[in-house]
Amino acid sequence: MKKWVYSFGDGITEGNAGMRDLLGGKGANLAEMSSIGLPVPPGFTISTEVCTYYYDNERKYPSSLEDDVRLAISRIEKETGLSFADPENPLLLSVRSGARASMPGMMDTVLNLGLNPDVVAGLARSTGDKRFAWDSYRRFIQMFGDVVLEVDHGLFEDALENMKDARGFIDDVDLSGDDLEELVGEYLAIVEQETGAAFPTDPMDQLWGAISAVFGSWMNSRAITYRRLNNIPAEWGTAVNVQSMVFGNMGDDCATGVAFTRNPSTGENVFYGEFLVNAQGEDVVAGIRTPRNLTKAERLESGNDQLSMEEQMPEVYTHLAEVRSLLETHYKDMQDLEFTIQKGKLYMLQTRSGKRTAQAALRMAVEMAEEGLISREEAIMRIDANSLDQLLHPTLDQEAEKTLLTRGLPASPGASSGEVVLTADRAEELAAAGRNVILVRLETSPEDIHGMHAATGILTARGGMTSHAAVVARGMGRSCVCGASEVRIDSNEGTVYIGPAELKEGDLITLDGGTGEVFQGEVPTIMPELSGAFGTLITWADEVRRLGIRANAETPMDARTAREFGAEGIGLSRTEHMFFDADRIVAMREMIMATDTEGRKIALAKLLPMQRDDFAELFRIMAGLPVTIRLLDPPLHEFLPHSNDELEEVAKAAGVSIRMARERAIKLNETNPMLGHRGCRLAITYPEICAMQARAIFEAANLVQKEGGQPVMAEIMVPLAATAREVELCRQIIDRTAQSVEKETGVSVEYMVGTMIELPRSCLVADEIASEAAFFSFGTNDLTQTALGISRDDAGQFLREYAEADIYPTDPFISIDKEGVGALVRIGVEKGKATRPDIKLGICGEHGGDPASIDFCEEVGLDYVSCSPYRVPVARLAAAQAAIRIKSGA
Ligand code: PEP
Ligand code: MG
Repeated sequence: MKKWVYSFGDGITEGNAGMRDLLGGKGANLAEMSSIGLPVPPGFTISTEVCTYYYDNERKYPSSLEDDVRLAISRIEKETGLSFADPENPLLLSVRSGARASMPGMMDTVLNLGLNPDVVAGLARSTGDKRFAWDSYRRFIQMFGDVVLEVDHGLFEDALENMKDARGFIDDVDLSGDDLEELVGEYLAIVEQETGAAFPTDPMDQLWGAISAVFGSWMNSRAITYRRLNNIPAEWGTAVNVQSMVFGNMGDDCATGVAFTRNPSTGENVFYGEFLVNAQGEDVVAGIRTPRNLTKAERLESGNDQLSMEEQMPEVYTHLAEVRSLLETHYKDMQDLEFTIQKGKLYMLQTRSGKRTAQAALRMAVEMAEEGLISREEAIMRIDANSLDQLLHPTLDQEAEKTLLTRGLPASPGASSGEVVLTADRAEELAAAGRNVILVRLETSPEDIHGMHAATGILTARGGMTSHAAVVARGMGRSCVCGASEVRIDSNEGTVYIGPAELKEGDLITLDGGTGEVFQGEVPTIMPELSGAFGTLITWADEVRRLGIRANAETPMDARTAREFGAEGIGLSRTEHMFFDADRIVAMREMIMATDTEGRKIALAKLLPMQRDDFAELFRIMAGLPVTIRLLDPPLHEFLPHSNDELEEVAKAAGVSIRMARERAIKLNETNPMLGHRGCRLAITYPEICAMQARAIFEAANLVQKEGGQPVMAEIMVPLAATAREVELCRQIIDRTAQSVEKETGVSVEYMVGTMIELPRSCLVADEIASEAAFFSFGTNDLTQTALGISRDDAGQFLREYAEADIYPTDPFISIDKEGVGALVRIGVEKGKATRPDIKLGICGEHGGDPASIDFCEEVGLDYVSCSPYRVPVARLAAAQAAIRIKSGA
C-alpha cells in the first residue's frame, strides 16, 4: 500500500528535510526539527503525491487516505493526551499548505480546527478561560469562513470593528468572553447568510473541508500567476500539514512570533524578529497590531517603547536564542522561524531558509564562509548572480535637494522613483507602457503580486518588516517602504495623502527602501561601488572562474565603468554607436548618402579624426587590455535622414540639393534593413569605409603608444560575415592599411583580425572562416534573430505568449536558446578549433551577461564573455558558478 501520510512529533517522525519534494518545505522541516529534538507540536503531513492524485482523479482522494488520516490523528491524541472532537478534553488542529517552494497565493492557514458549540464550552471549562475559548472559536470561524467557505473576510472584520466601537474598545484583547460569545453568534449568522448553509459542526467534516481547500487552492488564479512568474511547475503539487494546536492567545504568558536567525535586510549576524503577546499566528504577519522586537538592542534601535521579548520573557527568550544557533548550525543557512509560546513554553511551528535582500544574501554568504560554517565555493554558489543587479541599482544622491514627505519601515533596499498608482492592475497596465510606477497600498496581499512585479517600488501604510509587502518585495528585489502610517488612501477619489502632500495617480514620488523615506517628485540617484562583502565575494569568484570577462563599450564613460566593475578588456565596441551624437550624425549620414567614391571619401575624411580620437581614448582607458573594435555595422534605417530638417542638413554638408538627398534616401531605403546592406556587406561594397576605420585604429594606437601608454592590443572585428571570403577581403584591406601606417610612422601596432559569428551559415562553415579569422565572437543577438527567424525589433509583441505557451519558456534574446542557437554555437566552436586550435572564442550578444547563458559558454569552452558594463560583476560571479558546477559534475 502506498504511503500518503507522514507523522512527526516526539513519538514518531517519518520524514526529514531531504523529503521536500514529497512533504513540501514546511512538512519536511517540521519533521527535521522534531528529529533534532526541537519542541514541535505533533502532527502529520499529507504528501504532495496526494495532490497529484487528486487532480489526476477528478478531485478524489486515494481510498486508503481516510484511514491513514485517522491513524495519524490517533497518534497525535496519544502524544498530547487530548482527543479530537471530545468536548471534555479537546484536541484542536491547525491545517496549513506547504509546497516545495514557498508559494504565496495559496490557502495558507486554518487554526483552531475542531471547535463547535459543545467543544468550545468544554474548552472554556478545561482551561478555565472563557475568553480564550471563544476567542479561539471566533478566529476559527473567521479563517475557515474566509479560506474554506470563501465568505468575504471584510464581513467578519466589520462585525468585530462594530462590536469594539459599540463597547468603546480599541484593541481586540479588550473584548470579554461574553462579548466574544456574542460575536461568534454574529459570525455564524454571517456564514449561514452568505453560504446558505450552517457552519459545519462535525470536526471531521471541518478537517476534510480544510484539506480540500488547500488542495483546491493549488489551482486558483493567484497560485497559477505566482507559479508562472517563478517558473514553478504545476505538477509539483502541494502538501497539507495538520498539526496539534498550541496557543499564543491564552494570556500574558503566551505569545506568537516570527524571527530570522540573521537580519534579512542587511545580513548582519544578529537575531531579528517580532512577536505579539497574547495573540495567535496570523496577527503578526497581518499587521493588525504593531509587533514588538525580540531583542533589547533592536528595540532601542527602532525606538519601540514596548518591552522586547528578551526583557519581558527572558527565559523563553534564552531558549529561543539556543534554537536559533542550533538551527543555523544544522541548516548552515539563515532561517526564518515561526514560534508560539504557550504558558511560558516555547514551540517551533516552522523553519525555512529565509528570504533575504541581495545585499543580505551577500553579507551572510561571506560571513558564514569566514565563520567556517560553509566553504567559499558554497558561498559563491549561494548567490543568485542575477540578484547582484539589485546592488548595482541606484541609491539616492545625498547632495540632491529633496522634500521628505514621510517615513515608514526600510523594508527592501534600493531607491526608486515613479508615478503613484493605487491598484495592482493599473501598475501592470502603466508598466507595460514603459512607465515607472510606485504601487501605493494600505497593505498588500497575494492578489497584488502582478502589480508588485510590475512596479519599481512599493509603499504601504500598514504592516511590519515581515508583512506580505516587505517579504515579497525583498524576494522580487523591488524597493519597498512599508508601515508608513502617514499614508492615507482615498480610492474613490483616486487620491493619496502622504504626510502633508495630497497626490493623485500619476504624480511622481521617490522611495528609499534602505532608509524608509518617501520623497516628493523624482530624486536623482547615484550608482554604488563594489565594496565590503560584494568585493570579497567577487574576489573569491575571480579565483575560481576560467572565463574571461569583458564589456561591450564604446563611450569613454562605459569603458571606465567597465573597468571599475572589473572588466578585463572590451569585447565589442560598436563603432556605429560612436556616431549617434548630434554633431556627428551629419557626417555619418553624408558618408552613407554619398553617391560616389569621391563623395564618400570626403565624408570619411571628416569621420577619420573623430574615430581616431574615440579609439585613442578607449585604448588609454583600457591600458593594454584587449580592445575589440568592430567595423561599421549600421542597420541603415537607424541612420537615414527622415525629417526635412535632417535632409536639409545632410544636403548642405554634402553640397547637393535637397531633392538629390531625398532621392538618395529613397533609394537607400530597405524593406528588411536588419537583413540588408549592413555588417561587412558595407565594407565589401565600399572598401574605403573599412580602410578609414583601420587607419583610425592604427593611428590611434600609435598615438597612445607614443604617449608612453601600454602597448595597445587591438582586435579588429568583421561583422555579419557569412563566408570566409568576406573576412578575407576585409582582412586584406586592414593588413594593407596597417602596412601603410607603419611605413608612414615607423611604429608597428599589434593587432588581430577576427570576425563575429552571428549567422547560421557562419557557424556551419566556421572551419573555413577560421582560416581567415584569428578570433570568433559569437553575436548571439543576430544569431538568435536569424536562427529563429524572429526579428529582434518585433519579438516583444508576441514572445510573452510564446513563454506562456511554453514554446520558448524564457525570452531567447535574453537567455540563449541552448537547443537551437546553442547547437549552432557548438558547431562553430568545434569547426573553428579544428582549423585553428588556438582560436580565441568569445560571445558579445546580450547573452554574455545572462547567468544561464554564461553557464552554457563555460560548457562549450569559450574563452570569454562580453556584456554591458553594469552586468560585469554578474558575469564574474556567474562564470565562477559555472566553473564550480561543471567541476562538481552537477
Ligand atoms: C549580436 O548580433 O549579437 C551583436 C553583438 O551585434 P549587434 O547587437 O550590434 O547586432
Ligand atoms: Mg549583430
